[in-house]
Amino acid sequence: MSTDKAMICMYKDPNCSIEARVKDLLSRMTLQEKIGQMTQIERCVATPSAVKDLSIGSILSVGGSGPFENAKSSDWAEMVNNYQKASLESRLGIPLLYGIDAVHGNNNVYGATIFPHNIGLGATRDADLARRIGAATALEVRASGIHYTFAPCVAVCRDPRWGRCYESYGEDTEIVRKMTSIVAGLQGQPPPGHPNGYPFVAGRKNVVACAKHFVGDGGTKKGMNEGDTILSYDELERIHMAPYLDCISQGVCTIMASYSSWNGTKLHASHFLLTQILKEKLEFKGFIISDSEGLDRLSNPHGSNYRQSVLCAINAGIDMVMVPFRYQLFLEDLTHLVESGKIPMTRIDDAVERILRVKFAAGLFEFPLSNGSLLDTVSCDLHKNLAREAVRKSLVLLKNGKNPDKPFLPLDRNAKKILVAGIHADDLGYQCGGWTATWDGKSGRITTGTTILEAIKEVVGYKTEVIYEQNPSSNTIAGQDYSFAIVVVGEGPYVESGGDSLELSVHFNGAELIGVVAEKVPTLGILISGRPLALEQWLLDKIDALVAAWLPGSEGGGIADVIFGDYEFQGQLPMTWFRSVDQLPMHAEDNSYDPLFPIGFGLTSKNKILQG
Ligand code: BGC
Repeated sequence: MSTDKAMICMYKDPNCSIEARVKDLLSRMTLQEKIGQMTQIERCVATPSAVKDLSIGSILSVGGSGPFENAKSSDWAEMVNNYQKASLESRLGIPLLYGIDAVHGNNNVYGATIFPHNIGLGATRDADLARRIGAATALEVRASGIHYTFAPCVAVCRDPRWGRCYESYGEDTEIVRKMTSIVAGLQGQPPPGHPNGYPFVAGRKNVVACAKHFVGDGGTKKGMNEGDTILSYDELERIHMAPYLDCISQGVCTIMASYSSWNGTKLHASHFLLTQILKEKLEFKGFIISDSEGLDRLSNPHGSNYRQSVLCAINAGIDMVMVPFRYQLFLEDLTHLVESGKIPMTRIDDAVERILRVKFAAGLFEFPLSNGSLLDTVSCDLHKNLAREAVRKSLVLLKNGKNPDKPFLPLDRNAKKILVAGIHADDLGYQCGGWTATWDGKSGRITTGTTILEAIKEVVGYKTEVIYEQNPSSNTIAGQDYSFAIVVVGEGPYVESGGDSLELSVHFNGAELIGVVAEKVPTLGILISGRPLALEQWLLDKIDALVAAWLPGSEGGGIADVIFGDYEFQGQLPMTWFRSVDQLPMHAEDNSYDPLFPIGFGLTSKNKILQG
């Protein structure tokens, strides 16, 4: 009797090992409950009763779909808790995993600290900084009740024409490997001796991470999003797979399959890469999640033979499916495929074991609801200062003075009159880029923070006049007697395929604007972009100084700190800066390497070339 009682409670007993709890819980589950756990649905189609009745394993907010526009962390926490309570009322009370794309801070939630996008962090090459950003992000995500982030993206971006270049830490595998330390920040650092590949989450101040997109997403032809990566296995492993080994050794809990293909085979359908390599050879014991509607993309036209796609992806090794909308169809098709013997029960059990293992490792059974005490961490001074530090370290100085012996920077904060120009100078949304506030990002005061213009005004002397004109003409500038100008130009926000570009030009006639201003006034150009852009020689000749600031996020103050000389430039290019798009793709190991600025390039304000 007492043994029976102990058996009944085993999966609920935190003193039992995770593996014992997983086995116990699995043995109690019906097929319908198992399939429910393998299903991730979108918040807008998730009703609490469906979550409970179908034992849904996970909910996500696509593009930050929250309880309402500009909802704050506490509103999110309330919403997530409501779903969680429904899950806890299901027959076995298996808690829900709520996921979101917190890819540079908790970027969907109004008022969160927004860190530079990965490309800027790659310019810092600072592994400890990435770890600290991961830890801060985890706190802000957890404060909003969310347990799971689809980050980090560990793509090695081999071509800046890819619309997701800014989600990558750079084109060099070693840079990306270094920055995977963010996993230890998000999930916490596993203790020495933690078994390789076993999921790890330190506690309630940490989140489940997701290394994505496995594998080769950054290596497609012409940088086409969701395209084909044509490489030998050895090259795929050396260039694109290596960062996953670092994530796996840190106990990353989940890995997302890529929409892209490898030598013509979609990753979602690759038993070889998902099962034989990732699960068997690399010993990954967490779960593999599909990308959003990744299964629909297996059949052509999209979704025309969905059942076939489900069969193919689940047998290839996908464990949880980000459906995320037509979940009834998914549940039906997967049930049919198992009942008809096309998908073996062992495959379902493997998937569910992996999902439960992550839920136990994350402590969800013990602490399913949000931790209200974390709300104070949202946008706290510590996090804002950390973001500002990251911005400072990410800036890459490309040119400093028409004559290198006469550096133009640092700027004089007590100058008489400064012209600030360009739409990017005073637009928080543009500073943050895609994946912020909305899926594809947007212009304007999308969250709290400091624009570059505001930051400049804060640091200059009280007698200095700062004039902002978004798009000044030669006539307005003529006769104005400015000491110097700061022109901020770059790209508007974009996301995924919407960012694929064959031209890589500066948006909104930004290059012309620099030309107009630099003709009349000594000019510093600041580029806000997710990647190197096409810069013509006349522009480089005309401008006095040029800084690549990437997509810095909410803390524009970091830019003012460095251009006015309170801090030194430290950033080095994480990507090759091409002379002309015709050269792409171009990498340091090519014999014909002839870049405008090589990967690793960066100047100090004294015009020393940074090394290392
Ligand atoms: C992206 C993923 C993302 C997912 C969920 C997909 O379109 O490729 O990176 O995690 O959406 O928002």
